[in-house]
Amino acid sequence: MAIKVLIPTPLRPFTDRRDTIEVEGTTVGEVLENLTSEFSQIKQHLYSDDGTFRSYVNIYVNDEDIRYLAREKTAVSEKDTISIIPSIAGGVDVDMPEVESETQLSNDEVLRYSRHLIIPEVGMDGQKRLKAGRVLMIGAGGLGSPVGMYLAAAGVGKIGIVDFDVVDKTNLQRQILHSTQDIGRAKLDSAREKLEGINPNISIETYETRLSSDNALELFADYDVVVDGTDNFPTRYLVNDACVLLGKPNVYGSILRFEGQVSVFDSKRGPCYRCLYPAPPPPGLVPSCAEGGVLGVLPGIIGTLQALEVIKLLLNEGDTLIGRLVLFDALKFKFRELKLRKNPECPICGIDPTIHSLIDYEQFCGISGGAVSEPAIDERTEITVEQLKARLDNGQKPFMLDVREPREYEIVNLGARLIPLSELPKRFKELDPSEEIVVHCKMGGRSAKAAAFLRQQGFTNVKNLVGGIDAWINKINPNLPRY
Ligand SMILES: [Zn+2]
Repeated sequence: MAIKVLIPTPLRPFTDRRDTIEVEGTTVGEVLENLTSEFSQIKQHLYSDDGTFRSYVNIYVNDEDIRYLAREKTAVSEKDTISIIPSIAGGVDVDMPEVESETQLSNDEVLRYSRHLIIPEVGMDGQKRLKAGRVLMIGAGGLGSPVGMYLAAAGVGKIGIVDFDVVDKTNLQRQILHSTQDIGRAKLDSAREKLEGINPNISIETYETRLSSDNALELFADYDVVVDGTDNFPTRYLVNDACVLLGKPNVYGSILRFEGQVSVFDSKRGPCYRCLYPAPPPPGLVPSCAEGGVLGVLPGIIGTLQALEVIKLLLNEGDTLIGRLVLFDALKFKFRELKLRKNPECPICGIDPTIHSLIDYEQFCGISGGAVSEPAIDERTEITVEQLKARLDNGQKPFMLDVREPREYEIVNLGARLIPLSELPKRFKELDPSEEIVVHCKMGGRSAKAAAFLRQQGFTNVKNLVGGIDAWINKINPNLPRY
């Protein structure tokens, strides 16, 4: 009996890029065993060494998590669909603070919000709620753009934005808060200008800082709702934990390539992000948008859904996404909805929590050192772009291997031999194990994996180019196209 298994984007490199695979089996365990025997590389991503599922992967049969069915023994039949939902990255009443009675709308505001005021679900009372609402956005990037613009337009009275980045040309394809003339400016400045232009009646607070365990609780305390528009796992867990500790709803969105996820985590009324994913994937497994790419309009769709949920939370109207995870596949134009349950064993919102304060999230996510200082390199396994340049200038020519995808190679390359990381296990025999090999990718993550793989295969002199072709362009040859 063939069962349909849906493969998420991060695992498709291991399934010959197929998104759906029909696999024989009568239980989830059997199906996954057959899947991993056909596509052996998936196995290490699904299972730990002791044979249990990894904590950053969830398996669903239709819309239900198998942890709440019979786990691997869950029976499946032909009409069932198994989904593998890795971390990327309703309907309950909410108790938003009561609107202070002194909140009033001016005549100008009445006119501006007139299309809201005539909807019964908003009306004068709802519009005052929005005006009294305080929403903190983490990030003024792809997701933060539509969130900020729609919340400003809708009249949310106080919008806080945490960001420390400057506008880069590569942002403009999707981050519509920022314009071409903003390149090089702080994102907070262009965001404030844009949002004040949309609605001068609201107040914008900006925080030019990296969100951290030291400042998160203090920053969140002044707000009713937090919107997670981050693009990295340490910040995602930090936002979750701070929201749980303060009892505030966390409107979650994440995007990669053509796929997005959206939900509302509110531990007082439903599950939190850790109920879904107790631990993050190891660094490098899930590509970032910088490495994996993202379709320009996708953050617009997912961010707009986040803005919608914020407005519903503030209005206390409708069924929010508490307890539901919505997945959107833009290429197929398919929305799917999965049930999320509160995990009684959740380390932060469960019955007997083990986390009572914010922790070191970089360390928790396996990222050592800080992003601020450059870590020392290991000369046996790594080489910097400066060292490589010096070697090349001296006429030494190590064999250069590029493990990016062909379309990245087409944009810019260093004349290296191209073998994409996903093809390396099949093609490494094309390389000479006795030769010195310098491996590179875009930023150094994929090439570190490739170098480790080659060492396992008996290659003795393999070095990872730290920072990848990005570092080469930034530090050695800025005339090359950057992507
Ligand atoms: Zn939880």
